[in-house]
Amino acid sequence: MRDITPPKNNGQFGKFPEGLKIISHCPVCHFNYNPAEVRILEELDNAQLIHIKCKNCQSAIVAMISINSIGISSVGLVTDLDENEIQNFREMSEISGDDVISVYQTLQNSKEGMLA
Ligand SMILES: [Zn+2]
Repeated sequence: MRDITPPKNNGQFGKFPEGLKIISHCPVCHFNYNPAEVRILEELDNAQLIHIKCKNCQSAIVAMISINSIGISSVGLVTDLDENEIQNFREMSEISGDDVISVYQTLQNSKEGMLA
């Protein structure tokens, strides 16, 4: 298991300048991103989790960029979360099947309560 280094939110793209070429423009409005607006949420040895907000249309993407022996790859998605919200979700524990059943049972009970 690798150590997770703390994120460096310094606005630099660090050792992944090639990664930014993959995600050089907004997927929504095609406005070119300014590299200074990339926020690095987490940095590992060969991967970075980044967040970019488009100045033009205010949509944001969160992307994981990784480098391995094959090359550079990225997986990204359009989001309406800002970087603080993403950090909050990352710290939350996973939702288990038991959690889902518990919510379902609570809803069922409250429904029966309303009908009674
Ligand atoms: Zn845009």
